[in-house]
Amino acid sequence: MSHTPVPEPTEGREHRVLVLGTGGTIASERTAEGFKPLNEKKARDAFYRRIARHPQLSDADACGDFDNIPATKVGRNTRYPPLRTPALDEHGNTVVYEILDLENHMDSSEMTPKDWNIIAALLHENWDNYEGFVVLSGTDTLAYTSSVLTFLFVDAGKPITVTGAQIPLREARSDGWYNLLESLIVSGCLPYAGVGVCFNHEVLQGCRATKSSPNLLHAFETPSVAPWIRLNVRITALPNLTRRSAAPPPPLITLQEAPSVLSCAIYPGITGSILATQIHSMPTCKAVIISAFGSGNLPVKEESGVLQALEATVKREILVVVVSSCHIPNIYPLYALGVRLLSIGVLPGFDMTHEAAFAKLSWLVSRSDLSFEDRQREFQTPIAGEITA
Ligand code: ASP
Repeated sequence: MSHTPVPEPTEGREHRVLVLGTGGTIASERTAEGFKPLNEKKARDAFYRRIARHPQLSDADACGDFDNIPATKVGRNTRYPPLRTPALDEHGNTVVYEILDLENHMDSSEMTPKDWNIIAALLHENWDNYEGFVVLSGTDTLAYTSSVLTFLFVDAGKPITVTGAQIPLREARSDGWYNLLESLIVSGCLPYAGVGVCFNHEVLQGCRATKSSPNLLHAFETPSVAPWIRLNVRITALPNLTRRSAAPPPPLITLQEAPSVLSCAIYPGITGSILATQIHSMPTCKAVIISAFGSGNLPVKEESGVLQALEATVKREILVVVVSSCHIPNIYPLYALGVRLLSIGVLPGFDMTHEAAFAKLSWLVSRSDLSFEDRQREFQTPIAGEITA
């Protein structure tokens, strides 16, 4: 499907966006130990001040003097005074945005379901007051966050854009400036809803994204689908994107905070007892992801014990799913090995990324309204575009 130009606005106004800050490289400072997102007020204020003083991100005249920043505490988080972008087009469209900085600035490798619950609750609480949302995250687990938010906010009528940077804002070469500006445009002005990842002049479908490089500024890809939006000289988008609407988010599901989804890689020589040991070591385990070879293959000979271990796990009503460890994932029962796997109740992840499978399972096992069979069925059903139908 080819991209078409995004319709140009015919009039200008202010668009309101809430930005949630969670840390990551974008907010990191240089320390003796390397780049690190700091929690001290001074470092947070410096992050805000950098944004407030950046001519592409802040209409300084409107925003005033930022030497003494009158930030306010909202619960455990810090709300900074609103900023306004310069005019974004000839009609004078601008985005007025507020940064709500989360209590705990972290490297995203530290992120847990508890942090996703905090982010989701803040998005829910603030849903009616803004036209869209931006979540600033470290890039390492950004695709997990965008996948989780996709399921928690399925069918909601506003955009949630997740972004970050490969180089901190404090560095002259930071990519964070345009990632943030373009996220504000996407969440504030463009006519589309849904959870996207805005990075390096593209918006990717949140539940299809995966981090593909720790070095390239083009850090994310959606291996199985085209980018939703391209922000080149002209902004173009896929013609079938979901439009903004008044649809509210679904009732908030609180994700289980105890580890509930186990992820196991298949490699040459793996045995059933290695898998069983991992599964038994997680008493709160409700689902297991098997990252298998190719189209869903793994050793099935009797002596490896792999099939037996997985079959016993399914019998304990733990969801077992298989995704492909290939860069462009796809599970289809082409070989006898994969067919055997599916025949014992292991569920195919089709072309889901590992991140999407993890997020979907975390969401399904947290829903008390679903039985084990419901969860098995839902896992295989496309909910939010995470599987090619
Ligand atoms: N380790 C960092 C993080 O995920 C990497 C980044 O933000 O680019 O927080």
